[in-house]
Amino acid sequence: MRYSAWQVIKQGLNGHSGWQAAFRDPEPKTDYDVIIVGGGGHGLATAWYLASVHGITKTAVLEKGWLGSGNIGRNTTIIRSNYLLPDNEPFYELSLQLWEGLEQDINYNAMVSQRGILNLAHSDAQVDAYARRGNAMHLAGAGGQLLDTAGVRKRVPFLNFDDARFPIKGGLWQERAGTVRHDAVAWGYARAADSRGVDVIQNCEVTGIRREGGRVVGVDTSRGQINAPKIAICVAGNSSRVMSMVDQRLPIESHVLQAFVSEGLKPTIPGVVTYGAGHFYISQSDKGGLVYGGDIDGYNSYAQRGNLPTVEDVAEGGLSLMPMIGRAKMLRSWGGIMDMSMDGSPFIDKTDIPGLYFNGGWCYGGFKATPGSGYCYAHLIATDTPHTVATGYRLNRFRTGHPVDERGAGAQPNLH
Ligand SMILES: Cc1cc2nc3c(=O)[nH]c(=O)nc-3n(C[C@H](O)[C@H](O)[C@H](O)COP(=O)(O)OP(=O)(O)OC[C@H]3O[C@@H](n4cnc5c(N)ncnc54)[C@H](O)[C@@H]3O)c2cc1C
Repeated sequence: MRYSAWQVIKQGLNGHSGWQAAFRDPEPKTDYDVIIVGGGGHGLATAWYLASVHGITKTAVLEKGWLGSGNIGRNTTIIRSNYLLPDNEPFYELSLQLWEGLEQDINYNAMVSQRGILNLAHSDAQVDAYARRGNAMHLAGAGGQLLDTAGVRKRVPFLNFDDARFPIKGGLWQERAGTVRHDAVAWGYARAADSRGVDVIQNCEVTGIRREGGRVVGVDTSRGQINAPKIAICVAGNSSRVMSMVDQRLPIESHVLQAFVSEGLKPTIPGVVTYGAGHFYISQSDKGGLVYGGDIDGYNSYAQRGNLPTVEDVAEGGLSLMPMIGRAKMLRSWGGIMDMSMDGSPFIDKTDIPGLYFNGGWCYGGFKATPGSGYCYAHLIATDTPHTVATGYRLNRFRTGHPVDERGAGAQPNLH
């Protein structure tokens, strides 16, 4: 069924009785060409681009829970391509361009909203660093504009300009950045992949990876054995757990990150705003809730919930930046498991085991990467060569001395 304005009117007149299920609920088959482990945003996007770009449709996406149960349905929905390093900026710019055409590509309303992002600077050195980053963005065609204090005040007058401990010196503005309805991304990619014949199988946990003669040949799951010559791992916060099934250790640690939503308010915050003197980012959802977050909880965990010290820390960051939100009530909070890599950058690579591919280490910036990651991972799986914008995301980069350390924080995952 093709979604359109005409369908909305027609189904509305029929009491909405004619909508079909968005995707099938298939039983697993015994054999596929490709098995994707993990039905998060990246796994589902990979299945779609394998089908739509490379014509590979005999694919199964195996998800241990329900679609949207992982980080794809837990993030603060921010998309952007305002990176500095040549290994990152072209990749994230490709991803942003894919976001811009996504809804037409998959015929699904994911509420892609390019409302802009403003990274605030609180010292002269930070302004210089943003000027450098803005130049790198322009070289990659990503746009970007450096604002002075007056320019920031014009866009977001409700910030604390007058008695702030860290005065606002300016900001880096990317107009094409914004937010996307996160779980709609999972449903949209699932529906599109399903329409090309991909089996999206929920409640199917991978419990083992089978090998014969050194090659992977299939997986053991909670719903039986499934075979394929190519297996693509894409399980975000569970990366280390799943790769331990083939005795592979990863340069990844799992940490908790929390997100928060306030009660619904009248439109206040026009785009995404990030605090440069602490760690705090905020936007306003179309329903009116302020959606915000900050640092990871900072300890290793596989629990999808966080602790109160971080709630307090995030609230402090928000209040010092925009004291007016102190009067809003927080309605909900939740946590997700972050696959924090040693340099803060991801991996899209083949492993040393023939037929086994790995995608992970997205830290807490992987939502914006969803289309780019799926596109490049599909390219790798189909052609066995990395996509040109993802050549830096190799698993052996620490061994060869080529880390991609955007933040310059060194090999300490909880700092990225
Ligand atoms: C609170 C929070 C805020 C965030 N904010 C942002 C943001 O604003 N912008 C941004 O760019 N990024 C953000 N992120 C990060 C982003 O959400 C993640 O990097 C990204 O979603 C990870 O990729 P994914 O969607 O494939 O992961 P997931 O949705 O977690 O998908 C992985 C899937 O693998 C499944 N799985 C695990 N083990 C197995 C197994 N053995 N068998 C089968 N399936 C398995 C899991 O159930 C899960 O559904 C945020 C994350 C969180 C938690």
